[in-house]
Amino acid sequence: MSGPPDTRWKTGGMRIVSLAGGIGGARFLRGLKAAAPGSEITVIGNTGDDITLFGLRVCPDLDTVMYTLGGGINEEQGWGRDGETFTVKEELAAYGMEPQWFGLGDRDFATHIIRTQMLAAGYPLSQVTEALCDRWRPGVRLLPMSDDRTETHVVVADDAGRRAVHFQEWWVRLRASVPAEQIVLVGAAEARPAPGVLDAIRDADLVILPPSNPVVSIGTILQVPGIRAALEDKTVVGVSPIIGGAPVRGMADACLTAIGVETSAQAVLELYGSALVDGWLVAEEDKGVALDGVAVEARPLLMSDSAATRDLAAAALALAQSLR
Ligand code: GDP
Ligand code: CA
Repeated sequence: MSGPPDTRWKTGGMRIVSLAGGIGGARFLRGLKAAAPGSEITVIGNTGDDITLFGLRVCPDLDTVMYTLGGGINEEQGWGRDGETFTVKEELAAYGMEPQWFGLGDRDFATHIIRTQMLAAGYPLSQVTEALCDRWRPGVRLLPMSDDRTETHVVVADDAGRRAVHFQEWWVRLRASVPAEQIVLVGAAEARPAPGVLDAIRDADLVILPPSNPVVSIGTILQVPGIRAALEDKTVVGVSPIIGGAPVRGMADACLTAIGVETSAQAVLELYGSALVDGWLVAEEDKGVALDGVAVEARPLLMSDSAATRDLAAAALALAQSLR
């Protein structure tokens, strides 16, 4: 038989921790759920992309994971709600309200209203996320990396001068077309892992790093003090978000360039380092990638449909199990 080994029979009752950004992470998690039925999956989500718009707290990556796993995602787009309309956005624009570059739909607004109301009432983001997941039943335990507010800011220099802008302004409004001089997670040093994060890592049988953005998704989570150190004690397998020198979709190369890292599966592996990663999945054309202390395997890395995504997740699990 060809294809990746089917590990489904072995994964029941496993405790799996996965980090996750937005689209890449969420799609991979769908495959992980399919590859490991009966396992307990805890997802540590990136909150560095979070932003306050129109007085509402928006958590794009947590919501992408929640909607994707809960069946409410806009499949073509990869983010936002299905069947979405934009009446509120249009009405705000008619008043001349800024910003107008961030696409918040009517259905999505409800999520942010509830989140903002609960935060204002004193609930931490982890409890707010749990409450929102009561509706979506994502089938994983979704934890924000931290209840403390952190925000990724990007230092850019263009006609308007040298300044720091919120990550979303650089990513969504500027489409990452202005080179980033620096990417900084504001508040990182003071942030504490959200309740449950370090316990979940400690109790995990294995940890998977999905093909999420290595700088502003995985890299952000790793900056929360205590998380990287806890992960270093575990069996960790990562899936390269770079295939043959290019991010599969999106603009992750702009983030890597900003921190002086080449856009390659080799460079991302070196960025994570062998203290963190024990196994690394790359695409066939990157099979020359190597790092001391890391088991590298070539596999089909494209999450083109649900079967391919499940097989990719199964390959990551199989590699992790062989390294435990
Ligand atoms: P974001 O928060 O929406 O940007 O999503 P993530 O941080 O989770 O992941 C985005 C990254 O996932 C992209 O920049 C790609 O490098 C990677 N990615 C997306 N689709 C695929 C895929 O099918 N295969 C692999 N290997 N990587 C992918
Ligand atoms: Ca993101």
